[in-house]
Amino acid sequence: MSERAVILIVDDEISNIEIMNAILEDNYDISFATSGEQALEVARSILPDLILLDVMMPGIDGYEVCTRLKSDHLLADVPVIFTTGLDDQDAEVRGLSVGAIDYVTKPINPVVLSARVSNHIELKRFRDQLAQMAVTDALTGLSNRRQLEETLKAETSRLAPTGDWFSFIMLDIDFFKLFNDTYGHPEGDRCITMVASALARAVHKMAGVTARYGGEEFACILPGADPKSALETAKDIQSHIQALNIPHSRSKVSATVTVSMGIASAKTQPDMSGNLWLQHADHQLYISKKNGRDQISIIEF
Ligand code: GH3
Ligand code: MG
Ligand code: MG
Repeated sequence: MSERAVILIVDDEISNIEIMNAILEDNYDISFATSGEQALEVARSILPDLILLDVMMPGIDGYEVCTRLKSDHLLADVPVIFTTGLDDQDAEVRGLSVGAIDYVTKPINPVVLSARVSNHIELKRFRDQLAQMAVTDALTGLSNRRQLEETLKAETSRLAPTGDWFSFIMLDIDFFKLFNDTYGHPEGDRCITMVASALARAVHKMAGVTARYGGEEFACILPGADPKSALETAKDIQSHIQALNIPHSRSKVSATVTVSMGIASAKTQPDMSGNLWLQHADHQLYISKKNGRDQISIIEF
């Protein structure tokens, strides 16, 4: 990754900040804060990749800053390295117990500081990559099924108190086994990828989430969409896929690749689980398939 990591240095003594800045500025983008309060404020606005945190500061001390960072969901994963003149084990233990990942003592040794910072930045990048991979479908780059189910749950409960509309689309490529049999598995993969990007393009403007549900099945979450706009989005998806113009000589409904869709739309209510939309949309998809494919079915429940 070529982008430079951002480090927040927190210390109430400017001279300490200057020393650390001189050691790190060639390799990182540096921000500063000179108090605990300011540190929390700056951290929230810049979301740094790592924080070097002084323990002893007037006002909120380093332990308290670290505790608050760790309870803030946006900042909890940012590694914190304590910097302190206290070369004693109790301080170290206390720092680690409030969630710091490491510890460096002052006076700062440039080699030690550089090495610790670089190790923890690298580890954080690996962790971020892993976290990203855990929610992404490798072939299409869309959200995977796990992420879809999480988002569905989160979005339906977020909207529940508002009573807003919520729509969910399930989509399946028609006669895809025949497509693979005719053109081969690699071409099948290419088709899935193209359908995925057409889908993402069509859903993007609705501020929706698009996921690969599995195999040649996809799903779209459309928060705030009523049945009419969900149906419009589905038609938009259909025309985007038509425009791909991927030949499918053995399809029984068209000369090119088509999809069937099922839509479930309802006004959110506190006692409704995201699974309800999934089940209803899946049933509508089944109806679209049964009625001949290359079509859209919708239920308002
Ligand atoms: P229908 O119109 O009823 O949906 O028929 P279908 O042939 O599309 O459905 P079926 O469920 O019988 O077959 C789905 C096929 O999708 C079978 C499987 O080999 C293929 N498939 C699933 N995942 C992948 C994948 O990642 N890559 C490729 N190339 N094919 C896949
Ligand atoms: Mg299919
Ligand atoms: Mg299928």
